[in-house]
Formats: sequence, structure tokens, C-alpha cells
Amino acid sequence: MSGGCQCGRVRYTTLADPAEAYLCHCRMCQRATGGVSIAFVGVKTADTEWSGEPDWYRSSPIAERPFCSHCGTPLGFRFVEGSDKMDLTVGSFDDPADFVPKHHFGAESMHEAWLDTSGLPRLRTDEHAVLVEKWTKATGKVPE
Ligand SMILES: [Zn+2]
Ligand SMILES: [Zn+2]
Repeated sequence: MSGGCQCGRVRYTTLADPAEAYLCHCRMCQRATGGVSIAFVGVKTADTEWSGEPDWYRSSPIAERPFCSHCGTPLGFRFVEGSDKMDLTVGSFDDPADFVPKHHFGAESMHEAWLDTSGLPRLRTDEHAVLVEKWTKATGKVPE
């Protein structure tokens, strides 16, 4: 499976099991991504090859996080020592559609109001007329 950052400078291939994904709600991940939670999947470090090396941010004394210093995409998490695994962000995979969450981590910091949003109104990107007009004018096609 492959993935990378938004601008395409950092790319990776890895072996990931889409059934082994999870949401991390811990405050470190909230701060590192700007999200209310982050979707991760655990992979073996040895199975992961970077083409276009990521930058690494030492987010705590025990962990570091790969990201792209050009576009800012958060790409994962790993312990500095003592693990042969790392996490990659589900949203950075080229095709994240097959991933399903298996559990919550960092449950002490979960924002309950954001967990079940299935009943909220849904607006597709291509229904946002102003956005579609700007995007089409800039790129000649409709947004993905
Ligand atoms: Zn990038
Ligand atoms: Zn976390």
C-alpha cells in the first residue's frame, strides 16, 4: 500500500492491515494534528519504505512524528526506542477507504460530541457552489 503527503514530496510504501486501524484521542495527537482525534494504523517499521524522506519532529522525550516540512501533512508516530512498529496516518494513504477503526486510544481525552456524527446534515464538496467555481477556474476540473 502506498501514501504520502499532500504536496507529494514525501511518499511511502508499506504493508498495512486495514482492519488494524484505530483512533487516537490523546492530547499529544490533538496538538500534533490539529484534529479532535487522529486515525492511525500500526505497521512494521521494516515494512515501510520512504521515497522522499519525511522530516521528524521529536514530539516528546519518548516519541517522534514524521511530517512534510513543505506542506505540513502529519504522517505518523513512532517511539524513539524499543519498538519495531510505527503508526501511519490513515488519511495519508492513497486509498484510505478500506480502513476500519478497531478501538479508541487516549480515551481520557475523547471529545464525545464528535464521536457519533452520523445524524448530522451532509453536504458534498461538489454541492458547494463557490468552492466548485473557484476550483474549476483554478484547475479546469471539479474538486475530488
Ligand atoms: Zn508535502
Ligand atoms: Zn495519541
